[in-house]
Amino acid sequence: MKKILIGVLLTASFLSYSQGKSIDQKVEELLQKMTLEEKIGQLNQYTGDNTVTGPLTINPNKQQEIKEGKIGSMLNVIGAKYTRQYQELAMQSRLKIPLLFGLDVIHGHKTTFPIPLAEAASWDLSAMELSARVAATEAAASGIHWTFAPMVDVSRDPRWGRVMEGAGEDTYLGSRIAFARVKGFQGTKLGDLNSVMACAKHFVAYGAAVGGRDYNSVDMSDRMLWETYLPPFKASVDAGVATFMNSFNDLNGIPATANRYIQRDILKGKWNFQGFVVSDWGSIGEMIAHGYCKDSKEAAEKAILAGSDMDMESNAYRYNLAQLVAENKVPVSVIDEAVKRILRKKFELGLFDDPFRYCNTERQNKALNNPENAKIAREVAAKSIVLLKNEQKVLPLSKEIKTIAFIGPMVKPKRINHGFWAVDLKDVDSTYIVSQWEGLQNKIGKKAKLLYARGCGVEDMSKAGFEEAIQVANQADVVVVSIGERWNMSGEAKSRSNLSIPGVQEDLVKELQKTGKPIVVLINAGRPLIFNWTADNMPTILYTWWLGSEAGNAIADVLFGDYNPSGKLPMSFPREEGQIPIYYNHFNTGRPSINEDKVYKSAYIDLPNSPKFPFGYGLSYSYFTYSDLKLSKKKIKSNETIEVTLNITNTGSFAGEEVVQLYLRDQVGSVVRPIIELKDFQKIKLAKGETKTISFTIDNEKLSFYNSALEFASEPGSFDLMIGSSSADIRLSDTFELIP
Ligand code: BGC
Repeated sequence: MKKILIGVLLTASFLSYSQGKSIDQKVEELLQKMTLEEKIGQLNQYTGDNTVTGPLTINPNKQQEIKEGKIGSMLNVIGAKYTRQYQELAMQSRLKIPLLFGLDVIHGHKTTFPIPLAEAASWDLSAMELSARVAATEAAASGIHWTFAPMVDVSRDPRWGRVMEGAGEDTYLGSRIAFARVKGFQGTKLGDLNSVMACAKHFVAYGAAVGGRDYNSVDMSDRMLWETYLPPFKASVDAGVATFMNSFNDLNGIPATANRYIQRDILKGKWNFQGFVVSDWGSIGEMIAHGYCKDSKEAAEKAILAGSDMDMESNAYRYNLAQLVAENKVPVSVIDEAVKRILRKKFELGLFDDPFRYCNTERQNKALNNPENAKIAREVAAKSIVLLKNEQKVLPLSKEIKTIAFIGPMVKPKRINHGFWAVDLKDVDSTYIVSQWEGLQNKIGKKAKLLYARGCGVEDMSKAGFEEAIQVANQADVVVVSIGERWNMSGEAKSRSNLSIPGVQEDLVKELQKTGKPIVVLINAGRPLIFNWTADNMPTILYTWWLGSEAGNAIADVLFGDYNPSGKLPMSFPREEGQIPIYYNHFNTGRPSINEDKVYKSAYIDLPNSPKFPFGYGLSYSYFTYSDLKLSKKKIKSNETIEVTLNITNTGSFAGEEVVQLYLRDQVGSVVRPIIELKDFQKIKLAKGETKTISFTIDNEKLSFYNSALEFASEPGSFDLMIGSSSADIRLSDTFELIP
């Protein structure tokens, strides 16, 4: 009864903010009532003391600060029950401004999906939008308003552990995926209870850290920035993303957190972004270690002036902004602007109408136990698997097989290949995570015998388990061996200088090969790994990344052909670390890159330039032929378009999907242009024997690039059009001309 009364009183006080006014008016009115200290409170974000295990004990100082309106947002408070407890404290503050709850919902919340890099391999934009939608539904029901995703950093460096969180090396693919993910998280409208605010991160160029070492410096030309690293962020703005997060790295000597050019000139200026920017964790304070600020006060000044609106965990705004205002170093108008951006989102989320609208345990229980979500996760996981080799047509496995040996350290544990950034919902029973073993068992039931041996650990060097593995393999008709990186070997601060499969896992494969049995190798990883021996000697390889809670079922679906693999690599796989950075859309040099003796080549003397597996590569159990390429015109002006049509036929024995990739090359430019660039793609489904005609439109935007004056424009001249099944498997080509 008491609770209801408080609720009614609170609602009455919120209504005084609302009543027929626009959000901007409500924000303005509220701002007028705020003291400077309360304004600064809105810019301040802290982490929760206790994430998911109860009983929740909120640090008394923090309780006090929330009640005094000194905290605007919390991260890492998970669960409807706990967010409610925090929100109740905020409702005791003078102006009752609700807290925002943020969390890294990177690849699912309770139901986990493939890591974003794996999902990118699906090239299936609707699947990625849907997985973000499901994640949003589960997170929003658990009291979360805001996910720190999608990460839209382009990266050409698999040493960087955070490639697992992004969409890979390509700007075009990455931009399409960024758009889809933002739409998925945010749904049709902020404030709808199945949506969370998205956050495009990390602004910007974090993926280009020198040497692939996390948090490292970035030095790059403006043209590279505009052409390669900014477009996925722009696509996020176009999709209506509510927030941005800046990055830890310095960019050309200025830490991104204090970089006015990127935050004020580009994001809030040229792109007219209306949301707010949160710093990365402690990144304002880290500017002291960068050697860019002498103390926290200077860091606060530089960050806020440069356009970082909210301080995540640096405590720099909280303790310095009032003083900086008093000293006239930071105008109140700058603080007001940041506060308004944040308040606007709180209004859009409906938090002033009901601050507890996301804190509903009943809704949470329903959302977290929705069996539909597991089904979707299973489908997306199957779509993310990449078939690297199937030379002896061992796959799909025959349903008549009597005995299967499932071997390797990745087979049985649930968490080992679940992926970094999977939220540990400690009060949720983890039995719902389907291990690879369980998945295969579910699939074969009693129809076949499943044998197991671990063989070895992920990293330990002991070969003591090999003998048992060989014995088990010898009893089987087919061996499936599952190896790779453990969940925490790729992710934040998980850069690696050596990209081999850890420990003695490849040695285990070598030993198993000697049994002469048909062997399928599953490689589980959060990045492109280097596994030359396996790649050269094993005829059947599936790259299974880290696939999330339905990994086991999805892998079983692919092994038995209930899903025909359709994934294509979103990053080039190097032969050796020495080739990194390696990416398909590079420029040409003036020198040949292959075998022309007596010429000084642009090549390694000990390695080809090409990757082991190229961007866009991935096989199917079926085969697709490309034919009848037609261009509606061979000469166009910049205001005209070309319709490109072609036929794709499924000439194999299974229904399947193909990702048809369209690449262009501008033959001569006022600045050098990549030798090949993805400009469009379509993923199509074809029944066995079926032919489909597909079409693409080439418009001026596809022909444009950032010229030396940094204008995005096309230039008259000849273009190569290439259509293929990967960046290195062009099946059809033609040329056309752009005329003045
Ligand atoms: C990461 C961000 C993340 C934040 C909050 C930082 O260390 O770089 O991507 O959103 O922590 O967890």
